[in-house]
Amino acid sequence: MDKNIQNFRTIDLNIDISKLPTPIYIVDERLIEKNLKILKEVMDKTGCKILLAQKAFSMFSLYPLIGQYLSGTTASSLFEAKLGYEEMKEKEVHIYAPAYREDEFDEIISICDHIVFNSFSQWNKYKNKIKASAKKIECGLRINPEYSEIETDIYNPCFTGSRLGITLENFQGNDLEGIDGLHFHTMCEQNSDVLKRTIEVVDKKFGKYIKKMKWINFGGGHHITRPDYNIDTLIECIMYIKNKYNVEVYLEPGEAIALNAGYLATRVLDFVKNNIDIAILDTSAACHMPDVIEMPYRPKVIGAREAGQYPYTYRFGGLTCLAGDIIGDYSFSKALQIGDILIFTDMAIYTMVKNNTFNGVNLPTIASYNEKDGLKIIKKFGYKDFKERLS
Ligand SMILES: *Cc1c(COP(=O)(O)O)cnc(C)c1O
Repeated sequence: MDKNIQNFRTIDLNIDISKLPTPIYIVDERLIEKNLKILKEVMDKTGCKILLAQKAFSMFSLYPLIGQYLSGTTASSLFEAKLGYEEMKEKEVHIYAPAYREDEFDEIISICDHIVFNSFSQWNKYKNKIKASAKKIECGLRINPEYSEIETDIYNPCFTGSRLGITLENFQGNDLEGIDGLHFHTMCEQNSDVLKRTIEVVDKKFGKYIKKMKWINFGGGHHITRPDYNIDTLIECIMYIKNKYNVEVYLEPGEAIALNAGYLATRVLDFVKNNIDIAILDTSAACHMPDVIEMPYRPKVIGAREAGQYPYTYRFGGLTCLAGDIIGDYSFSKALQIGDILIFTDMAIYTMVKNNTFNGVNLPTIASYNEKDGLKIIKKFGYKDFKERLS
């Protein structure tokens, strides 16, 4: 494996990589399906329902496939809800938002079957509208159990002063008429031992209210499809709550559906030298993988190792003018050449949904892959997409 490191054959796709129109996201449907089967097994073993949280992954061309396994979608906005409603047919449509806009609420009622509110004031504001609608809508409240093991504040819905969810102190539990469920979301990329400790707190603090509910939603942040994830503990948590309170349990992971199921292929455009060797790619951290800068993290590249581990080390930079548009430092056993194709892994999530055209950089092509059809180009972008968001 040491020779020809940017050895594209380490990617298990039966296509001519050298002909790819870069930059391009390739989502491997087989890997999505592998994830979906794991999630379906949890549903089958526990009777819980699992929803796709669209925030991380909204590649709606795959919603029919996802809908074969999961119970529906959840959304953080009207637009996401509409996307789930339109593209994952006949499935549940849930929504939660920190607050709903009045001018959007009628449409939300018309497409959603579960609406979760972030406060009693929002619930009180909209409950008559919901009661008056001909459609049966189940309503929930997001609670903040004030317990989270997330260490980075921007991803921690329980940090001091968080606006997300109702704390026990502010929970007006004496009138819950019309409320069918409680929702908490306090995890991020975590294993089920964290869920177990969270459930203990939720149980202790909010148990007397869960008793009155039809369902409880454990939110997202469950990295269920990661190889080291402990599914037995997840199942134990779900069954504990189901049996103790006789409620239905929902999970709404986002990342877990498309974790490790997509690639971003890019070409080397040029090399510059400034103390170290820098390769400029036809992609951009700022535009095409914004979490690299925001989280921040260093994505993996097939065939590459940490800087210095192989003889040829490069810093990968994007083609915007932002000085910080840097993806990371990587080493290879063979020198890279202009025109070489590099493949970043785990690029299905938090990419397409967060991309932008900063600096007029075009958006990557979106493609899927399956055995029967091979590589299927789903969408290409161009100048029009850039211009239409400006005025
Ligand atoms: C982000 C989010 C999710 C999905 O989280 P993942 O980390 O992608 O699993 C689910 N529910 C809510 C309310 C969220 O904000």
